[in-house]
Amino acid sequence: MTVIEIDHSRTRAKAGVARVDTRKRAAMATSRVVPQAVSGRIRRIKWAILVLTLSIYYVTPFLRWDRGPNAPDQAVLLDFAHGRLYAFFIEIWPQDLYLVTGLLILASVILILANALAGRVWCGFACPQTVWTDLFLLVERLVEGDRRERLKDMNTPLTAARALRIGIKHSAWLLISLMTGGTLIFYFTDAPGLVRAFAGGDVSATALTWIAVFTGTTYGLAGFAREQVCTFMCPWPRLQGAIWDPEAFTVNYRDYRGEQRMSAKKATELRARGEAAGDCVDCGLCVNVCPIGIDIREGPNFACINCGLCVDACDSVMTRLDRPRGLIDYESWRNIERGHRGEARVSRLLRPKTIALTVVSVGLAAGLVGLLATKATGAIAVLHDRDPLAVTLSDGSVRNAYTVKLLNKANVAHHYTLAIKGIDASLSIVGHDDGTPITVEPDGSESLRVTLTSASPKDADVVFTARDETGGTVLSTSDRFVAR
Ligand code: SF4
Ligand code: SF4
Repeated sequence: MTVIEIDHSRTRAKAGVARVDTRKRAAMATSRVVPQAVSGRIRRIKWAILVLTLSIYYVTPFLRWDRGPNAPDQAVLLDFAHGRLYAFFIEIWPQDLYLVTGLLILASVILILANALAGRVWCGFACPQTVWTDLFLLVERLVEGDRRERLKDMNTPLTAARALRIGIKHSAWLLISLMTGGTLIFYFTDAPGLVRAFAGGDVSATALTWIAVFTGTTYGLAGFAREQVCTFMCPWPRLQGAIWDPEAFTVNYRDYRGEQRMSAKKATELRARGEAAGDCVDCGLCVNVCPIGIDIREGPNFACINCGLCVDACDSVMTRLDRPRGLIDYESWRNIERGHRGEARVSRLLRPKTIALTVVSVGLAAGLVGLLATKATGAIAVLHDRDPLAVTLSDGSVRNAYTVKLLNKANVAHHYTLAIKGIDASLSIVGHDDGTPITVEPDGSESLRVTLTSASPKDADVVFTARDETGGTVLSTSDRFVAR
């Protein structure tokens, strides 16, 4: 069992230790979380990100990008059938998968950097699970009402009116899920073509199967699993214990200001007498709005997705009570500790860790851009025949045979002239006149049987070159010539 103990507060009302353990999280998971709607500046930012990310997701497959006559014109296309990934001006072949690996490493470093700056900020604002869950919650509230109505409904027998509302909600969820699943398919094939196929009722069973899978996944994860995905299914919170950073601006409760909790009336009376009073009125709004069901006043919680909705909730309470906002805020744990000691807060966004991660991110990004800019549109590969390695001819000369593969990743045909360096031998291409350029069709490859014959044979490295007569570049690779 994992137990995380954090020395959180000297002024806590109930205990001096915040304890977040697996039993508590398990209990949290079994009780249904019904988050209350909240408004405020962070909620507005989240709505803006939701609209932006959903728009990008639904619109991107329909963007066009002119790659010439022999290539698809879809801006973003994962063309697994032909082994190509397209993203605007970028085209990735199976041989270029190191670029995808580099991109994944860059994304990981950026995620760790974001974590060092603001904890699980990705989870709270831009993760698809959060975005779609927010959308599903919006539908749920529009149809069934906010938390108060829903809790009341849950504790009363089912009526026809409520059954109708539940039916409408699930229909809307299924429609959104269908649009989500359908759109995902558009990333793997020509989107307008698939829309026309849908309109004509001519859709393959494979496409329908994948749409059903993605629709069901969206419906299940955003409609039912919700916060349990963030807490139990996603590996990111598991890593939080290892990468939790006390200097990161995560959502925290300023307990040195909030405790002791008491009613607003009592706090006013105490302050009138010049006595200390906590700002927290224990209204529970910060807990009610939390999509994970956390009481952030108990201390940092690795299940917290840093969405900031409790910040909005508490700010609205503080504004109503005419008290300063920020009782719950994006604040580093170090500053909470400084607050306990009565010290001024310090912003340490720039520190060796964040600077190093930024430098690594920029370096990786620059390296990837450089690789993309210099990526060759052709490639050559040579495979030496193994059996036999060498053949001695009647005149005493020795012949080695190879399979040479020329790859043309461009959208126009390229013509290559094959040559060798490093040994004294004559090159011959089976089925081709010697010295005649080999034509490789756009987006295609050519496999050639090549023999090297040497009258003065010796074991040596041999360099195969393919001079691109279209673009002037020279492709090369090396292999071995064996005398016997
Ligand atoms: S505790 Fe606050 S920031 Fe964390 S998940 Fe709940 S509402 Fe979001
Ligand atoms: S919303 Fe603010 S005042 Fe209300 S319980 Fe939470 S921390 Fe206390």
